[in-house]
Amino acid sequence: MRPAQAILGVGLRRLLQIENPLQIRYNIPMNTNADLAPKKDYYAPMHTAEHILNQTMVRVFGCNRSKTNHIEKNKSKCDYFLPSAPTEEQLREVEALVNDVIASRLPVTAEELPREVAEKSVDLSSLPEEAGETVRLVRVGGYDVCPCIGKHVSNTSEIGRFKLFSWDYQNGRLRIRFKLEQ
Ligand SMILES: [Zn+2]
Repeated sequence: MRPAQAILGVGLRRLLQIENPLQIRYNIPMNTNADLAPKKDYYAPMHTAEHILNQTMVRVFGCNRSKTNHIEKNKSKCDYFLPSAPTEEQLREVEALVNDVIASRLPVTAEELPREVAEKSVDLSSLPEEAGETVRLVRVGGYDVCPCIGKHVSNTSEIGRFKLFSWDYQNGRLRIRFKLEQ
């Protein structure tokens, strides 16, 4: 089979498999395996760091995971809603905790489960109904688990060093900006 036909073959099969309107909404190209992810997840180390940051914010502040974020290769930002402004000391503690998790060399794994099984152990309330009957859960060792269709590193040791470089707090919203250093 010529390459063009091979690509077309995969594309058609993928097209036939699409039951999830989210995949169409994100305009996912159909010629590689990596593109089941939304565009913002294209850089796996940064996106995996986002998972760890979310879990750390939940543990430290009892807030929700970030729903508004912007993940890029060089720098990223995540928003969290808190009743009062955190101190610099608290945020440096968050940074240190994220780096502790990264340095623990945890495996990052994904599994697909029926929605009714997954929702017994994980909060799926942010997942739209049209996301389908099968849920992909991504685990960062025993530290974090959440539903995600993005692309991740296979071990936290691939992430690098997590650095908070700025933040601001306005009207209950904490915006954290971060980058990764080798
Ligand atoms: Zn993810």
